[in-house]
Amino acid sequence: MNHQANRCLLSAGVVLKGHAVDSIRFTHQTRLTERPLRSGSAIVIRQDELFSSLRQRCRELGVVVHEETRATSPIIERGFLRGAACDDARELLAEYSVIADGANSTFGRALGTYRRRDLPYLVAVNGAWSAPSAHDPNISVDLGLVRADGRPLAGYGWVIPDGHGAVTAGVVVPSTVRDVESINLQQVLVQMVSSVGHRWGLVADSPLELGRERRLPVGGSVGPVLGPTFVVAGDAASTADPLSGIGVTGAIMSGVLAGDVLANAVDEGASAPLQRYSADLKAALGRRQQLGRFVLPVLGHPAGRYLLPFAARSRSAADLLLRSTFDISLPNPLSQ
Ligand SMILES: Cc1cc2nc3c(=O)[nH]c(=O)nc-3n(C[C@H](O)[C@H](O)[C@H](O)COP(=O)(O)OP(=O)(O)OC[C@H]3O[C@@H](n4cnc5c(N)ncnc54)[C@H](O)[C@@H]3O)c2cc1C
Repeated sequence: MNHQANRCLLSAGVVLKGHAVDSIRFTHQTRLTERPLRSGSAIVIRQDELFSSLRQRCRELGVVVHEETRATSPIIERGFLRGAACDDARELLAEYSVIADGANSTFGRALGTYRRRDLPYLVAVNGAWSAPSAHDPNISVDLGLVRADGRPLAGYGWVIPDGHGAVTAGVVVPSTVRDVESINLQQVLVQMVSSVGHRWGLVADSPLELGRERRLPVGGSVGPVLGPTFVVAGDAASTADPLSGIGVTGAIMSGVLAGDVLANAVDEGASAPLQRYSADLKAALGRRQQLGRFVLPVLGHPAGRYLLPFAARSRSAADLLLRSTFDISLPNPLSQ
């Protein structure tokens, strides 16, 4: 999680005690460049810890969370969304709703959202390995992904220590790679762990768990993000960063923006403030979304896969990648 997400959560009263990261190592084959990060610019937090902190804060604010309830279909009255029918036969009624049902977003699609086929998405897979070095304060980013036949592949891999005895490793590849759907990403991941895992003490073929390959809509490719009585947030609105695939920041930022416009609508007793949501989202994420639309096709081009590895060769290329791809601010060079 980067500093922006953490700041957003702090402003909402959610205090996280994650594993602090103070440097990133870029690797490509035998090359390695390590860059320091500004204090507090990245922390690692396990998903269960993030969820329990969010739920705790919700309870403090008097929010009722129906954890085991699934919304099955929208309740529409005279063309307006008025709530959801649920799998436990209940109907939850609401004047306004936030749709945040993730990348597949069945509920969002039932309300008319769709993904633009001309814009890129990412495909990612991750897994967890037990590691003696899980307390290290650094993240590894591998820029030398290879296919099963040894040919280089655009995208990158990561190894992130959780501070509790395990590391998460994953790989992400842009859909602009021509044959992306036919690549076995789990194999690419295991291959990556075999080649960089020794630095972490990982045994590639004995993961604690190995996830399945998932599509991640990114960069504002899904819309519309609002209707007369609802707004769409998180992956359901493709708020994940198109270059890094970091999605928690966009999910939290869009959630906060959604909360703001809905609170205003309730205060004013009119739905007009919802119309601001689209512009607010664009102001927060638009610059990165435009950058992604330009850069992902370049990376997916057969020549583009040779660009990223430069970051493992020079400090300035690594810093450029940190700022552009990971949107991470760096320490003042004078203080290094
Ligand atoms: C392999 C992989 C690794 C990733 N790693 C990172 C990472 O390290 N850091 C990072 O920042 N991002 C990462 N991302 C992206 C990140 O996971 C997502 O962008 C982020 O989780 C989006 O949050 P969300 O709340 O919008 O959606 P989700 O996290 O998918 O949450 C949606 C929730 O809605 C619930 N739901 C769905 N349908 C219904 C329904 N009908 N009724 C009730 N509930 C419903 C689901 O159960 C789920 O709990 C990764 C993505 C992938 C694919």
